[in-house]
Amino acid sequence: MTDTKIELLGSSLTELQALCAQEGLPKFAAKQICDWLYAKHVDSMDAMTNLSLKARARLEEIASIGRHDPINCMVSKDGTKKYLFEVASSTDGTQQYVETVFIPDGDRGTLCVSCQMGCKMGCRFCVTGQQGFHGNLSAADILNQIFSIPEFDRLTNIVYMGMGEPMDNLDNVLASIAVLTSDWGLGWSPHRITVSSVGIVPGLKRFLDESQCHVAVSLHNPYPAERLTIMPMQKAYPIAQVLALLKQYDWHGQRRISFEYTMFRGLNDDLKHAAELVRLLKGLFCRVNLIRFHSSPNTPYQTSSPKAMDQFCQYLNDHGIICTIRASRGEDIMAACGLLAGQNRQNN
Ligand code: SF4
Repeated sequence: MTDTKIELLGSSLTELQALCAQEGLPKFAAKQICDWLYAKHVDSMDAMTNLSLKARARLEEIASIGRHDPINCMVSKDGTKKYLFEVASSTDGTQQYVETVFIPDGDRGTLCVSCQMGCKMGCRFCVTGQQGFHGNLSAADILNQIFSIPEFDRLTNIVYMGMGEPMDNLDNVLASIAVLTSDWGLGWSPHRITVSSVGIVPGLKRFLDESQCHVAVSLHNPYPAERLTIMPMQKAYPIAQVLALLKQYDWHGQRRISFEYTMFRGLNDDLKHAAELVRLLKGLFCRVNLIRFHSSPNTPYQTSSPKAMDQFCQYLNDHGIICTIRASRGEDIMAACGLLAGQNRQNN
């Protein structure tokens, strides 16, 4: 939003202590503000009733909570919901939008959040990638997608797999994760959070060192030359370099590494690709998620047949790699493809 006030959402306890010191508020007020923001997730300063009236008035002057309701929601026939949020304007002044997808599944409620307005990575099969990059989301913008949906209390898992590349906005992604996992925040286990990446090696290394969240690397093709045709970042950070980094970490504990493999008919769904994948992932305790490609406008790619996907999955499982075919959710609302955000940007 264009508000120049500080957004409290996304602030750490330490940052709030510094703010309180600067404004002459008692140190314990910082913990009280954290409780209101995160444990009680209030959306107004007035609701912080154990702060003095004077403290609340001063906070109103200099800060906002940073909460904004979604402006649109599409509901799939399978219960998946795609929310659209307005976010800060990009540097060229145009209003930007991001998508957030809620996926209910029995007792589980997974939320897929966006971390950037658009994306620089340019993956050829991705609608967001084709729309270019319009700016980073702040930690407040990332957390608002979580705190401002009606299903907040039903969330069991968060995946950073929406619009954008998390390792390209790492400070804000880590700040949002700190709120989710710290005892002054929501106190979630980091193992309820999965962060995806195309494999930006320096960012991924920092993320692996500074967080315990699960990691999902977008692989999509085991052959470097073929991968390059759909993922330009293969040039800067070849998959072999990404795997060499991942192999330096222990994946036998609670933290998991998985590889996302979207299946494209005739491009990467042959058993020779499965065999090469087995060779590439040798020595890494991991799992592979096969994803059915959701056809979208302006992409020449097609979905693999169910038979090809089954055979590919069976091959990996037979050769010691845990592989599952990810259930397709929200296809009728084009969940998490960035189309809705792009259409809104064009209409404004
Ligand atoms: Fe960016 Fe992910 Fe789309 Fe690639 S698939 S362009 S990393 S949003």
